[in-house]
Amino acid sequence: MSPEFDLIAKYFTRPVRHAVLGVGDDCALVRISPGCELAITTDTLVSGTHFFPETGAEKLGHKALAVNLSDLAAMGALPRYVTLALTLPAIDEAWLAAFSRGFFALADKFQVELIGGDTTRGPLSITLTAFGEITIGHAIRRDGAKEGDDIWVSESLGAAALALKHLRGDITLSTAAFERAVMHLEAPNPRIALGRALVGVATSAVDISDGLVADLTHICRRSGLAASVEWPKVPLATSLLSASVEQQRACTLAGGDDYELCFTAPAISRELLHELSSASGLALARIGSMQSGEPLVRVYDDDGEAINIQSSGFDHFAIDH
Ligand SMILES: [Mg+2]
Repeated sequence: MSPEFDLIAKYFTRPVRHAVLGVGDDCALVRISPGCELAITTDTLVSGTHFFPETGAEKLGHKALAVNLSDLAAMGALPRYVTLALTLPAIDEAWLAAFSRGFFALADKFQVELIGGDTTRGPLSITLTAFGEITIGHAIRRDGAKEGDDIWVSESLGAAALALKHLRGDITLSTAAFERAVMHLEAPNPRIALGRALVGVATSAVDISDGLVADLTHICRRSGLAASVEWPKVPLATSLLSASVEQQRACTLAGGDDYELCFTAPAISRELLHELSSASGLALARIGSMQSGEPLVRVYDDDGEAINIQSSGFDHFAIDH
């Protein structure tokens, strides 16, 4: 048996619970529930581009899975299976053990099964493909927003971007503030329960990976509508409360890596969404509305003046010095 094979067996093979056949054959075999279709998403994290090379392996294991589950959450899908392609500069068992610990801790939380994968030698890169189930025709898509719909976001925005600015040396946070912020960057929580609860309520949704403005623009383009956002209603992460307004705007509007959900829903659903928020303990903020017009996001300050949005998304080379 080749060393590569041994490693897959040692760190990534587990007895299957739902799949017909898991790791170990040419393909995995899965059956999906009657009346469902599959939502499929893939994401790659490259060292030096999407994360600092010194990032701990356990955190990477969590984050690589979390960003994929976040895409399933945005469609309202129930996560079921995942495949993993790992490119590693060298075989490092301590790294693999830590990576698989972080990965499986999150996989177990959402009962996601690893059903296949591949390992190759090369610069560190992690690619996951996640498969989720959704009742046929019920997925929350980006193209369903209607004129007059409210725009909502979950929890708060900007903490991950603030931590990234600190790591790049652009700003200096206190140790306590940095530790609070970096949790959001390294250990995002995919909003699966919220996504499931929004099926049949939200008319469109995205997860915020590239910044509120960039991701909401996807909804605008696919739905053929403009978005009007009221800056005072955008929920700021607590670690941003003492930052300058410029920093607050940069981190929340263009920061990225939040992995919160941004969605649209008709005004008639407001009460239902407030109840959902109270019942789940997850804050939901109504930040604006969809309107007819050019498919652009406009953000207005307290005086109703449009804010000039310089940067519309997260630069994936931002961590390179
Ligand atoms: Mg996404």
